[in-house]
Amino acid sequence: MSGLIIEGVTKKFGSVTAVEDVNLHFKTGEMVCFLGPSGCGKTTLLRMIAGLEEPTTGSISFEGRDLTRVPVHQRDIGMVFQSFALFPHLSVGENITYAMRIRGHSRSEREDRARELLDMMHLPGVADRRIGQLSGGQRQRVAIARALALNPQVFLLDEPMSALDANLREAMQIELRKLQQELGITTVVVTHDQTEAMTMADEIVVMGRAKVLQTGTPMDIYKKPVDKFVAGFIGTSNLLPARMSAENAVRVGDAELRVESGAAGQPTGTDVLLMTRPEEVFVRPAASNPPANAVAGTVSFVRDIGATIEILVDCNGHEVISVLTPKDWPDVRIGDAVTVEMPVGACTVLAA
Ligand code: ATP
Repeated sequence: MSGLIIEGVTKKFGSVTAVEDVNLHFKTGEMVCFLGPSGCGKTTLLRMIAGLEEPTTGSISFEGRDLTRVPVHQRDIGMVFQSFALFPHLSVGENITYAMRIRGHSRSEREDRARELLDMMHLPGVADRRIGQLSGGQRQRVAIARALALNPQVFLLDEPMSALDANLREAMQIELRKLQQELGITTVVVTHDQTEAMTMADEIVVMGRAKVLQTGTPMDIYKKPVDKFVAGFIGTSNLLPARMSAENAVRVGDAELRVESGAAGQPTGTDVLLMTRPEEVFVRPAASNPPANAVAGTVSFVRDIGATIEILVDCNGHEVISVLTPKDWPDVRIGDAVTVEMPVGACTVLAA
């Protein structure tokens, strides 16, 4: 089978299970982000794809070739480490073509390739510089160029943006994604930054405590998180305690709201959480005729940041945030009684 396949992979370090029974299948040419909090096993999983760690059980294959016991240097993989791990005593060009030298490529071949990669990374003319003479952003480009020098089939990056300042980080996310699409190279990036994952990934793998919690496109995961943890990890979510009152309805305090039929497979009477996203709920002044699918509350804060306005509403002790554009401003102030309309399509039921 084509693509990158991870089957039943578990990794134990003594009594610590770093990765537990992971099964994943990515298409050739895809960009995948492993996303999750510190210590959830992202790096260990990436290092097993690279061949820097061996799975305790399970297998990893690429384009039908079983890589599980193949040593690093025979895997056709390029890797960028969090620290970049560049050699300070070598020039930029020598760093980039280090693996080519080991493999016996001639000096002229190496110089041509270094020039080509530096042009691709928008860093022309620095081949003779030392690593210490480069900025953090330039070092990252050199580390990427080095990883790509041998035209690998799989490109792996461990927290590649963490050494860059915020502005540069955003620009590099876009640049890296464009580069990956141009090259059409199967790529896996480890990150704990949801915006980074949303910006770059075809597919996001959300991990928590050594396990895969959810896999899907950024939009799938944003729209239909499987649980409270994933909902909180990707974007901002409003969570209201609720109880299933019918197959397609929940009760929140006094209000009854329709949800998509069979939303979470939860039986009637079960305590659940009603999740909505701030841009999908609408605050209106309380009226004698409240809209259907709405909960009542009181405005507790208004944050106007120009392009958007956030209205925080206290609904029975639980905060709901609504984000809207200035043209949709409902003219409400702190302390006003309001209703928050939650259209059926915006309502997701999660296990409590
Ligand atoms: P971070 O974002 O902080 O790098 P991570 O999600 O990448 O975290 P891992 O580095 O994969 O997580 O670590 C997963 C778990 O395995 C952690 O509990 C970690 O302490 C443990 N671990 C990782 N490598 C080793 C090792 N070589 N020996 C022992 N334990 C390890």
